[in-house]
Amino acid sequence: MNIDIINTLRAKLDVLQNQTLSGGIVARNLHISDNGSGELTLSGDITITLKVLDLTTNGAPKLSSLMTFTQQVITSKLRGGGYKGGISYFKYNAAKNKFDFHNNQTYSVRYNFNFNINVQQINMLSQLKRNDFVLAVVDSIGHQFTDQYGRRQASRGLTKGQSWPAIVSYNGWIKDKNIGVHEFFHTLGLDDIEDNSKKNRLMYHLGNNTGYSISDLERGDLMEYILGDINNILKKNYSNANIETDSRLKTFLNNPTNGFKYNKAKFR
Ligand SMILES: [Zn+2]
Repeated sequence: MNIDIINTLRAKLDVLQNQTLSGGIVARNLHISDNGSGELTLSGDITITLKVLDLTTNGAPKLSSLMTFTQQVITSKLRGGGYKGGISYFKYNAAKNKFDFHNNQTYSVRYNFNFNINVQQINMLSQLKRNDFVLAVVDSIGHQFTDQYGRRQASRGLTKGQSWPAIVSYNGWIKDKNIGVHEFFHTLGLDDIEDNSKKNRLMYHLGNNTGYSISDLERGDLMEYILGDINNILKKNYSNANIETDSRLKTFLNNPTNGFKYNKAKFR
């Protein structure tokens, strides 16, 4: 075949691939380097999109400023990437630019990712793809929990953990602007903190926070989740796998033990 035609086809295929890349995490220009003594450096440009679905009954006039704040905080928390030691994976063969699936090695991994964070509003469920991230805003949350000190606590936000939709109550979000990021970081795999000596942390969830920092360990965990399988670094472009966002959101919102109040007419 004529070389020009091949190149044209190749270019078209690239465009097509880029167009079909969508979801919560889209990574491009991925690159790996191995220092030869147990440290991998992974780099690339990663776009994370969080879709905000307003399910409030009376509207949410402060929504756009809360979204702007949330986008800024996520950007600042992920800036600079992260580092994680003790990751057991397949041995990297730099000459072949492949992982050797017959040999294991424990690596320290440096994540040198550039992040671009988009927090955008959507108006209906059909705007959610299965691998999107979503933060749904409801009127109120009835669910309560007992903390490690035996006290009953109300919930301003709620998730079912890693890869699940995040929910916040609109009034709770106004009272604590950081709750949107807190809930979203559960989606990205972080756990709650109840230790009274860690009130300065974003993931501390008993109210009366004195700060909203994340630790280097948490940053490393976030990076590990965002890349998913380390083998993804060898792909030219990568987007995160199907996490059933649309059906999980339905399941979670409709579970009566969560006690969500929201405008059901908006949820279709
Ligand atoms: Zn939490």
